[in-house]
Amino acid sequence: MAKELPYQVLVRDLPTHRTFQVPPVLVADWVKGMPMRDALDAPEGDPEAGHGVADLDLYADAAHAFATGTFRGEVTVACSRCVSPVKLAIDEKLRVTFMPKHEIPDDDAPGVAAAEGDEGPEVTEDDLDVFPFDGERIDLEPLFREQFVLAIPYAPLCREACKGLCPQCGVDRNTTSCACEPPIDPRLAALKGLKIPS
Ligand SMILES: [Zn+2]
Ligand SMILES: [Zn+2]
Repeated sequence: MAKELPYQVLVRDLPTHRTFQVPPVLVADWVKGMPMRDALDAPEGDPEAGHGVADLDLYADAAHAFATGTFRGEVTVACSRCVSPVKLAIDEKLRVTFMPKHEIPDDDAPGVAAAEGDEGPEVTEDDLDVFPFDGERIDLEPLFREQFVLAIPYAPLCREACKGLCPQCGVDRNTTSCACEPPIDPRLAALKGLKIPS
């Protein structure tokens, strides 16, 4: 695929209102390598990977650029119990500041967030959504990519009560029952063989 940069906007074109579409082929690429995505074993450029649409107001002051608006879409991952596909909805309000790299507070440094803890000023995560820019063009791709990555929980579920796969024979216990016995804890098995004197 030719290297196009459809998510870059020149600062000299601001202020502007733009709508951006994120196609499945890009979503597939961005979430590749995440365990619950790779578990689906989806084809390259999976048309079912998900999609997104950003609706943004973009503006700038002397040194910064800003994006506010919404990001909606979905991303498909595997259920962490039964491995069937789960569509996760994305519906986020965005409020992002683009600032020169040297101005960005180094709050990724380990320990800083924890140390500031409750005493720090009341700042929500939204306020801290900061991306670097070079003063000439803002690049929205990292922002869009983040929406998909953050939408995927550690252990996604197709439904709260998903029964998962049988650990012995591998059938999906949501749709099929099997006659497998649950494995016996070897310590209990040893006890079973004991004859307790009366
Ligand atoms: Zn499931
Ligand atoms: Zn089974």
